[in-house]
Amino acid sequence: MRIALFGDIHANLEALEAVLADAAEQGCTDYVCMGDVVGYNADPAACLERVRAMDCPVVKGNHDEDASGSHSLESMNPVAAAALEWTRLQLSDEQRTWLRRLRMVRQVEDFTVVHSTLDQPAHWNYVTNRFDAMSNFSYQFTQVCFHGHTHVPRVYVKTDKVQEVPAESVVIEDGSKYFINVGSVGQPRDGDWRACYAIYDLDHRLLVFRRVEYDLPTTQGKIHAAKLPSMLADRLADGR
Ligand code: ZN
Repeated sequence: MRIALFGDIHANLEALEAVLADAAEQGCTDYVCMGDVVGYNADPAACLERVRAMDCPVVKGNHDEDASGSHSLESMNPVAAAALEWTRLQLSDEQRTWLRRLRMVRQVEDFTVVHSTLDQPAHWNYVTNRFDAMSNFSYQFTQVCFHGHTHVPRVYVKTDKVQEVPAESVVIEDGSKYFINVGSVGQPRDGDWRACYAIYDLDHRLLVFRRVEYDLPTTQGKIHAAKLPSMLADRLADGR
């Protein structure tokens, strides 16, 4: 069984379609979404409908929550807030209800899925080093947990201590726990512009990260046409 783990799509339809095509080509039969389906880019409704039609497990991201509510976004950075205000207008009440009802944590097969961290899923903490990862491991009761949120693929392994290992292919070994960020489909921030996701091969206990090229000029054109902040288009090219 090969499962595609994808998230932080952020309304980038071209990146989402490219990832799903690659996953199918790679023999994935199951899909799990780490959340942040919407926010930042110009295709929130289309991405939401594409993910919803897949009928796969999806956890809620902070942008999903913010897009589904009507609370003030003043405390947020202005570019993200501008994109979310716009996103709210693009979604129907029914679509926003779907986002609002997404669960924070899911267990799928023998692993757990969360957008940010298991210790305080609704606080949207960012895990950028092994110390951040330590708090998560205290609440992780499956051997493997997948997450997103920072848009940077990372692998933390806990044996007697917690270490970060390169986000390349990972063999899941007995006696260790794994907290793995699968990267971002629609707005990578590790300096590589290509869409990122991961494939978990359950039979071989093997996780592989994938990078997929997509039609970036089309995505950028839609951002400009929607009059979203132009830095949202620029950053996609830089992978930042
Ligand atoms: Zn995100």
